Amino acid sequence: MKAQPIASHFIDGAYVDDAEGAVIDVVYPATGEVIARLHEATPALIDRALASAARAQGAWGAMRPVERARILRRAVDIIRARNAELSELETLDTGKPIQETTVADWPSGADAIEFFAGLAPTVTGETVPLGGDFVYTIREPLGVCVGIGAWNYPSQIACWKAAPALALGNAMVFKPSEVTPLGALKLAEIFIEAGMPAGLFNVVQGRGAVGAALVTDPRVAKVSLTGSVPTGQKVYAAAAQGIRHVTMELGGKSPLIVFEDADLDSAVGAAMLGNFYSTGQICSNGTRVFVQKGVREDFLRRLKARAEAIRLGDPLDPDTQMGPLVSQAQLDKVLAYVEGAMAQGARLVTGGARAGQGQGQGYFIQPTAFADVTDDMTLACEEVFGPVMAVLDFDTEDEVIARANDTQFGLAAGVFTADLTRAHRVVARLQAGTCWINAYNLTPVEGPFGGVKMSGVGRENGRAAVEHYTQVKSVYVGMGPVDAPY
Ligand code: NAD
Repeated sequence: MKAQPIASHFIDGAYVDDAEGAVIDVVYPATGEVIARLHEATPALIDRALASAARAQGAWGAMRPVERARILRRAVDIIRARNAELSELETLDTGKPIQETTVADWPSGADAIEFFAGLAPTVTGETVPLGGDFVYTIREPLGVCVGIGAWNYPSQIACWKAAPALALGNAMVFKPSEVTPLGALKLAEIFIEAGMPAGLFNVVQGRGAVGAALVTDPRVAKVSLTGSVPTGQKVYAAAAQGIRHVTMELGGKSPLIVFEDADLDSAVGAAMLGNFYSTGQICSNGTRVFVQKGVREDFLRRLKARAEAIRLGDPLDPDTQMGPLVSQAQLDKVLAYVEGAMAQGARLVTGGARAGQGQGQGYFIQPTAFADVTDDMTLACEEVFGPVMAVLDFDTEDEVIARANDTQFGLAAGVFTADLTRAHRVVARLQAGTCWINAYNLTPVEGPFGGVKMSGVGRENGRAAVEHYTQVKSVYVGMGPVDAPY
């Protein structure tokens, strides 16, 4: 099998397997071919992973941050040197075109490790003078953190969670999505090669039950999940039983608002990136595109022409611009949303059908856009997670802000306008954790990323992530005799 790893799991510095665990077949989405066969972690392996993390964390957390950083920086160099090979594996695991994986997936993961390696040595406490006595604070690691990933950016997600956790002195047990289990194993391998002590980053494979076993283990101090809202509700509730810290990076139905004065080609380009990149499988996608009525038809004309020129095909061909969806289940789900939109009266602008003649059993679908979508249509309310853009129209600024906010989600939002005062005014009123002005879906590691409302709790990336992988110890220092009343 083309992408078979040495073994299913990586625990305490080495690959391990246990054929007792249920089988996980890894399917290449472009052909339907099984490219690797793994096993779910058994309770004994989950225990080994947590025990090794707990064992390794003490010395790692006590190490000078610059020494931890040096090891992480070596891992960054290894990732960058092997980008071609790692990106090919990412393409096999996810079906995303090599054109994307070579610039977006591992490279953004390497950026995160580099950023947090640089940041960790600057993390300090504060001194609070009390006129003689004083308080000082120490930012301590949390301990053993659990990371649980989604399948859309498997290696980036592993890096985004491992980077702050490890740089700030924690250990991590990471469970990738069962749909895309391969990349995280490479990360674990690379950390060891970079000189990281064994046990600090362990990978265990499995479906939801393995994740649930990790979340409820008393050795775990924190859980960081990237996944859907329903999973987030379960994981958050389970973590609450142990009063564990959480970061929840969940789903969205984000608005992208295009005013009449916007640079229309840029707005169309951003809407396409925010709906079609990674075959639409991005949490922060601007899947409700609100276009002001005066430019709606022009917007749709340009969108249709550009969408129909998108090159679908073999993801390993560097000229391919769009690959398949990740799985048969995802294809079925997305096609059902497309049928539902037609049944509810949305106007099909482009796409709408399976694609990929000659692509074997691949899970290809045409880039699709609907116009005349109304707020109550299913397509405007639920996360599709496929290349299906919903275009809605609007008249006024107040109206569009109210409609943009009328959702349980709050992950992201975008505004296109030439009027900068309007851009800032609108962004100030949008209920979203991450906003873009005249841009969309750019998530550099330097900027915090995360959601409000049902889209999440906590932030990844940026300095903000330090808060979520450390805890504050307050130390009161008495400088004089104790004044006791008895
Ligand atoms: P999912 O919720 O089905 O699964 C996410 C992960 O949780 C998987 O590893 C799964 O095995 C695990 N899991 C499932 N049940 C569990 C349980 N009870 N306890 C512990 N772990 C459990 O999500 P998915 O289909 O893999 O990914 C798509 C979703 O992820 C979308 O909703 C998308 O918006 C979201 N997402 C969010 C972000 C973000 O940063 N906000 C990024 C990427 C994806």
